[in-house]
Amino acid sequence: MNKYLQDLIKLSKFDTAISMFEPKIENEKAKLATFVETAASIKASINSIYLEIDDVKSKRTKNNIHLAELKTKLENIAKKNKDISNEKELKALQLEEEIAKEQISFANEEIERLDNITKNKELTLKELQEKLAVEEEDIKEIQVAVDNAIEEISKERNVVYQDRSELLEKFDNKILTFYEKIKRWAKDSAVVPVKKQACYGCYMKINDKTYAEVIKAEEIVNCPHCGRILYKEDEIEEA
Ligand SMILES: [Zn+2]
Repeated sequence: MNKYLQDLIKLSKFDTAISMFEPKIENEKAKLATFVETAASIKASINSIYLEIDDVKSKRTKNNIHLAELKTKLENIAKKNKDISNEKELKALQLEEEIAKEQISFANEEIERLDNITKNKELTLKELQEKLAVEEEDIKEIQVAVDNAIEEISKERNVVYQDRSELLEKFDNKILTFYEKIKRWAKDSAVVPVKKQACYGCYMKINDKTYAEVIKAEEIVNCPHCGRILYKEDEIEEA
């Protein structure tokens, strides 16, 4: 096989490999992102439950104040009881006392209701905090795994960069320029194999004459349809 073609195939494979590293790293980071998002949403739920509990507690405080006022009212009614001079005043005072007692029992019921709500919310809060702790533990583990994977990918990438630069040291300048010109639009498919007599860049069938040249591999052959550099993959494996 033509030496330049061999170099081009190698270079193209290095470039393709290099392009794959960034998505691989992103993919690793994405694994962590899902867990971080879940943890953030649990944290948001915890914060809103704290606010809800505060709200319920402040309602309870208002009821307590109201309860104290009602008790004072009852005491005042009891004091007034001594100064009653007629039936009408007695009835009015009794009615007032009845209403106050009803209000007290209502306030007590309300406090009990609010306390139940608080209890339930505190249970939910505890569950969420436990869930968050598990999630944070997972994040720690995954972070380690992701860091290791990224380190591995970086090592592989460095090897490919090293091999690539070694290849470029002895690379023909004209061939390199030629390759880079095609690469500008073809990206990582500047050098493509021919399979079933079709260019694997544009997937168009190539004519018999060109195909024969590709198989011979004595020269660099471009796809007559798209201009990519062609090679016969089988022969590379043999070489
Ligand atoms: Zn083509």
